[in-house]
Amino acid sequence: MRLGLFGGTFDPIHVGHLVLAEQCREACGLDRVWFVVAGEPPHKRGVERTAARHRLEMVRLGIAGNSGFEVSDVEVEREGPSYSVETLAQIQAERSGDELFFLIGGDSLVDLPTWREPERIARLASIVVVNRPGARGEVPDFGIDAKPILSVAIPPLEISSSDLRRRLASGKSVRYLVPAAVTAYIEAHKLYRDSAAAPT
Ligand code: ATP
Repeated sequence: MRLGLFGGTFDPIHVGHLVLAEQCREACGLDRVWFVVAGEPPHKRGVERTAARHRLEMVRLGIAGNSGFEVSDVEVEREGPSYSVETLAQIQAERSGDELFFLIGGDSLVDLPTWREPERIARLASIVVVNRPGARGEVPDFGIDAKPILSVAIPPLEISSSDLRRRLASGKSVRYLVPAAVTAYIEAHKLYRDSAAAPT
């Protein structure tokens, strides 16, 4: 199948993530999009984040009702930092018949050359990049063996998890920025109440 892999911290998941995934699913004719929840993102080391079980559950609630979406805990289950290249290699080894698509926002594409083995990432999967407000820079060169980089345009959504955490910490509404079931989960578990991090 044509499998989209969409990695993120999802702390918390928001409508920007959902629009990105749905527009890529449609534009690239993907059979499934897996939301791969990062365990320990290497580029966000030292930054406190909400326990993985909460982030997984919020993704589960956020994607409910879309049969094209699934949540994946491969990175949460793997020991150590979550390197995307290892995730892609693992999934490709387990699902050799699948064609992989690696979905990212424009800001992440610009950073990608600093990730572990970016050229190998671009050989393992077709990178699908989506515009994100504030993201700038050119498309990096991933070498001659790289699969073509695909670009999908979405209505620009200036939403980020860090902004949502700030809003929640100061008691502001995140209604309509986050799916209703996720907002209810955040309230029920008292997440993001008074700092960037939440209870474990
Ligand atoms: P934070 O503010 O904590 O850094 P974030 O909102 O960027 O979080 P992540 O979970 O780190 O969310 O993002 C996962 C992926 O989704 C990244 O590839 C990122 O570029 C993309 N993304 C997140 N929000 C948007 C958005 N509003 N528009 C387009 N892409 C987005």
